[in-house]
Amino acid sequence: MSNIDPTTPEGRAKLRELLDTDLTLPLSVLDDGELVGIVDADDHMADRDIDAELAVAAVNALPQLLDALDAKDRQIDVLCDALEISKQNTAEKSSAIERVRAVHREADYCAGTNFASCNEDGMPWPCPTIKALDGER
Ligand SMILES: [Zn+2]
Repeated sequence: MSNIDPTTPEGRAKLRELLDTDLTLPLSVLDDGELVGIVDADDHMADRDIDAELAVAAVNALPQLLDALDAKDRQIDVLCDALEISKQNTAEKSSAIERVRAVHREADYCAGTNFASCNEDGMPWPCPTIKALDGER
C-alpha cells in the first residue's frame, strides 16, 4: 500500500474507506498492549488484513494529520486576528459616521418645513453629505 496523504480530500476518503468496516469503534489492542490482535467495542476480533492495513495507514497518516491540524490552528488564529481588526475598523467607521451625522443635521429652525436645510452647510435638507452617507445622489 502506498502512503496515503491525509491532507488531501482523496487521502481522507481512502482513510475513511479503510475505517468503513463492520467494526464497532473504538478499537482496542488485545493482549497487554502487544499488537497480536484488535477487538472492537463489541469484543469482536478485527479481520487481521483489514486491521493491519488500517493500522499502517493510520500510523503513516498521523504525522501529516498532526501537521495539518497545527496549520489549521495557525490559520484560525490569523483569521481570528483579521476578524478582530475588521470589527475594530467597522466600529471606528460607525463612530466616524455618527460624528458626521451629528454635525450635518437638519437645522432646528426649519425642521419639518419646505425650507429645511443642513445645520452645518446650509444646503437643502438632506444635504449632499447626508445623501452620500445614505447612498443617495
Ligand atoms: Zn450638511
